[in-house]
Parts: sequence; C-alpha cells; structure tokens
Amino acid sequence: MTIKAVRGTRDLLPPETELWNRVEQTARDVFSLYNFAEIRTPIFEDTQLFARGVGEATDIVSKEMYTWEDRARAQSEKAQSLTLRPENTAGVVRAYIEHKLWERPGLQKLYYIGPQFRRERPQKGRYRQFYQIGAEVIGPPSAGSESPARDAEVLEMLVMLLQRLGIKDWTLQLNSVGSPSSRPAYNEALRQALSGVVERMCVDCQRRAVANPLRVFDCKVPEDQPIIETLPRISGFLDEADREHFEEVRKILRATDVPFVINDRLVRGLDYYTRTAFEFTQGSLGAQNAILGGGRYDGLSEALGGPRAPGIGFAIGEDRFVMALSAASDANSVASAPSAYIAPLGSGMNLEAAKLARELRLAGIRVELGDESFRLKKAFETAEKLGIQRVIIVGENEVAARQFAVKDLKSGEQITVGRAELAEKFQSGKRTI
Ligand code: AMP
Repeated sequence: MTIKAVRGTRDLLPPETELWNRVEQTARDVFSLYNFAEIRTPIFEDTQLFARGVGEATDIVSKEMYTWEDRARAQSEKAQSLTLRPENTAGVVRAYIEHKLWERPGLQKLYYIGPQFRRERPQKGRYRQFYQIGAEVIGPPSAGSESPARDAEVLEMLVMLLQRLGIKDWTLQLNSVGSPSSRPAYNEALRQALSGVVERMCVDCQRRAVANPLRVFDCKVPEDQPIIETLPRISGFLDEADREHFEEVRKILRATDVPFVINDRLVRGLDYYTRTAFEFTQGSLGAQNAILGGGRYDGLSEALGGPRAPGIGFAIGEDRFVMALSAASDANSVASAPSAYIAPLGSGMNLEAAKLARELRLAGIRVELGDESFRLKKAFETAEKLGIQRVIIVGENEVAARQFAVKDLKSGEQITVGRAELAEKFQSGKRTI
C-alpha cells in the first residue's frame, strides 16, 4: 500500500510555491512599511494556552484541536498535555508575557507566517494543516494600544496588501462585539431569546446556548439560520465607550478611503475578541470565502496571566489568498526559467560542466546542469521542455580552447563565447546573445 499525505493536508508544489513566496514576500514588504517585525513561536504549545486564550466553548477548542499527552521521558520531566497550534495569537501573547515585551519601547507590532492545525472537515479552501499570515499590535494602554487609530491602521494596512497583490472583489465586514462590561447584558438577552427556540436548533447550538450563547452565531447549519436571524444583536447593547471607539474607527477608515460594510452578525469564532471584529471576504472563492479575519482582544493578556495589554490583530488564510490569486493569474507565468542549460558532452565532461556551472552561479546566474550521458539532441530537448532558451555546450575541445558554443534554441543560432565573457553575457537583463 502506498503512503499518501494525511487527509486534510497537502503538498505545495512548484510552480504554485512561487505564488506562495510572492504572497509572503509582499506581506513582509507591506508589514515593514508599517514598522512590524517578525516573531516565530513554537508550533506546539501547552494545551492550557488555547483553552484559556481561545475559549473552551469555541469550536476550535471543543472539537478541532490536535492534542496529545506528552509522556515524561525522565523522572525529572513532567507529563504534559500539548496541542498543535490552531491559531497564533495566543502564542504571540504568551511570548509577550513570557519575555516581558512591554518593557520594550512603544507598541509591539509583530507578524508571523506559518502553519496552523485544526481538525475540520476538509473541503476546497479548508484544510487540517493550513497557513496563516498574521500580525498583532499589543502593548500597555500608555503606548496607545487601546486607541481606535490602531484598528484603523491595521485595516488600512490590509487593504494596502490586497492592492499590492492585485486581489480584487473583496469586502471588509466590520462589527463591534463590545467589551466585557457590555457583554453580560447581551448574553442574558441572547439566553432569553434562545430559551424558546433552542430545542429546534442543532446539537452544537444547544451546547453553545448553555456554555457561551454568542457562539450560536458561528453556526453554519442552514436550517438554523432563520432562527439566528431573529436573535438580538450585540449592536443594541454596546456601551457609550464601545460606541465611541467604533465610531472613531469608522471615521478614520472613511478618511483613508477604506470601504467597509457593517455586519452585526459577525462575532468571529474565538472568544478573546472585544470591540472591533472584522472579516474580509472575496468573491471568487465560493463557500469558504473568508480570506482573513481578526479583531481587538483587550483582555487576552490578563486572561493568560499577563499585565493589561490591549491589542488588535488579524490572520490571513494564506491558502485562500493563493487561491484568489491563482484564480486571477496563471501560476506558470510567475515561475521563471533558468538563464542557461549547461550540456556536458562526452565522458569526463560532468566535471568540467560542474566547474563552469559554479563559475556562472557565483556570478549570480541561474543555471540548470545536464549530464554527460545525454546526447546533444536530448540535452536540447530537455532544455526546451524546461523553458530554457540557451544551451552552453561543454565538450573536450571547448574546455581546451576556453571557448564555448552557445546555442539559442529559439532562433537556432549558435555562437562562440570566450569563457571570460560568458558570465557577463548571461547576467540577468543583458540579452546580448
Ligand atoms: P481564524 O483564525 O478562524 O480567525 O481564521 C482566519 C482566517 O484563516 C480565515 O479567514 C481563513 O481564511 C483562514 N482559515 C481558518 N481555518 C482554515 C482552514 N481550516 N483551512 C484554510 N484556511 C483557514
């Protein structure tokens, strides 16, 4: 029996990986314009981090985590429950607390790129190992972390990234989910509204209604949607400060030309969100159309045992960004071919070809190397299939004369170039042959 990639995981192959690299590089460039720096946290963490950070009643923690008991290997070591990270914000905030990052000047503006793991039902655009590009702005309130200007700046940065990548047809959906002070009254109203109808809803909603009624809005079951439509919305329960914060975010977004729509059903699938919550959807993706999501998490640091450190962040679903991009462009057009194919001709020439390839690569030229067992015809055919236009022939006579035949497969033309001139001729941008 052959072994295959595990359900919900997949291999990313060239040339598509070029698109992934382009997305990541563009994200790094844009984040740097806004003065963000990279953080890398471990892929597995103490299970408690997610239970406390993301919330026990969320779908992620209650049914999607890859968790195992890591047995002690030595007497000095303790057995521990570990979990593959289902998201990265909790890990970043843990690191913020662990390394006392609040002692550093200003705000912490951190971004990450990496895999996340959730045991979801796999389908197009939804995987069990998927990739997120995310960023967090976190710090003491005295550094401005609580300001609505941070929310607006992060959203405007995301629009800049979408524009740079050429992703079109997106919608920014915006909501305020209030703060802990406005939540109890809303939760109570939700509970009451649910009490008469919850028996007609799915088993997950029945569990949610008891554990954390806000999570009912995560429900995707079509039959439940008409009931959910009738439930009270958080927008009617925001306190004065929440409303002012939300109004200021919207004002700055309008001033910076960031279009948005208000969606008062949007609560996001993680418990830590406060006030601003948002999601970007994209038209070409079908059912899994949320390309990124995020929001404010003013109480997360304290929930994890840290100091008061309001923050806001987002996570981009990189898999879906790449899908949106490849819908618009051809992955093959992104990949470029090497500048030259070196064809060693005859026995003993692999060695000479290796030396020449090294010279050219040292000069920054991308080179593909053939093999002395190939006849010239096969070398030309191979180069052509790889999309390489020019072939450098390395035979005994050429090496002795320090002169190489360079064949242009497009024009059929063949010229002789001295070894000393070769690198210069192939330098990128110079089409002198
Ligand atoms: P979340 O961490 O749930 O707020 O999700 C942020 C973004 O990550 C979503 O908008 C999706 O684009 C992406 N995402 C979440 N779960 C998956 C998954 N299982 N497969 C692919 N992308 C995902």
